Amino acid sequence: MHLARFPRISLAHLPTPIEPLPRLSAALGGPEIWIKRDDCTGLSTGGNKTRKLEFLMAEALAEGADMVMTQGATQSNHARQTAAAAARLGLGCHILLEDRTGSKAHNYNHNGNVLLDHLHGATTEMCPSGGDMNAVMEKVAAERRKTGASVYTIPGGGSNPTGALGYVNAALEMLGQVNEAGLAIDHIVHATGSAGTQAGLATGLAAMNANIPLLGIGVRAPQAKQEENVFALAAATAEKLGCPGAVTRGDVVANCDYVGDGYGIPTPGCLEAIALFAECEGILLDPVYSAKAAAGLIDMIRGGDFTAGQRVMFLHTGGAAALFGYDGAFDMTGKWTGSTAEAA
Ligand SMILES: *Cc1c(COP(=O)(O)O)cnc(C)c1O
Repeated sequence: MHLARFPRISLAHLPTPIEPLPRLSAALGGPEIWIKRDDCTGLSTGGNKTRKLEFLMAEALAEGADMVMTQGATQSNHARQTAAAAARLGLGCHILLEDRTGSKAHNYNHNGNVLLDHLHGATTEMCPSGGDMNAVMEKVAAERRKTGASVYTIPGGGSNPTGALGYVNAALEMLGQVNEAGLAIDHIVHATGSAGTQAGLATGLAAMNANIPLLGIGVRAPQAKQEENVFALAAATAEKLGCPGAVTRGDVVANCDYVGDGYGIPTPGCLEAIALFAECEGILLDPVYSAKAAAGLIDMIRGGDFTAGQRVMFLHTGGAAALFGYDGAFDMTGKWTGSTAEAA
């Protein structure tokens, strides 16, 4: 496995820090929890898509693109990081935003990531939910090409084998850090959506024979579908890397019990997770991805799936910019019911 063979540009502040979470660990009374801060990748408030964009944008430049196009939910962090990367490289950026939640709230539709998309100079168009968004985007791209634009399209979440290389690189980086620090890790836990993060991590960990179990907590699809998506992308990523077959089906594990009413709809557990991380550790989670993953982690600790004596690494994938689109989910008078940080 030799990542330097693939075109890459530097967009992220790397390596991202690894930190202990002593107050959160004490509050939950289970395993020692550590965090890998991919919310601190630096590009326009950071997040996991920046690692993928290092490889995707290099490919766009190599192909001579003058603009990129991508798609995501209204409060897509991927869209915002893509808009910022395009701005940095002097490329145009057009984004299709899918109305997955039906929210009519002003801040959901105009603040948070949407505000940042526009500040970075991207143009956006809203699309109804339910269609094949990558197919819709290819149609829009074909129209632009007819008028002379050289468009590089990036699938939702930047999740293809090129983007997943960013998380192969993250696996390498994380292993280097924990090996250097003498920090043996029993489990890695993170949010999984469009699958590129988990597929890249699984590929990198398998290629290095790390034998660290990886758990993706789903935010949208049911478990069987999510695992199938991750495994297919991991297989394609391993193929691209020159280590075909490195990832086995058993390496891909997702828990999709914490989606709640649907993608982008906060759950009581996710609001509690936001409160716990914010009040115990001064760390911001987002209600769509990282807090649903944290809610899963917290519930599994309470259920005895992770126990005292173990060390769990929570990969923070970012997303806090979306909080400003979700102010209505919080009781702004102070604490909202569900916060247990007080009891800690
Ligand atoms: C996109 C995203 C994820 C999920 O990563 P995938 O590679 O799409 O599975 C997790 N957390 C945040 C904050 C994201 O924006």
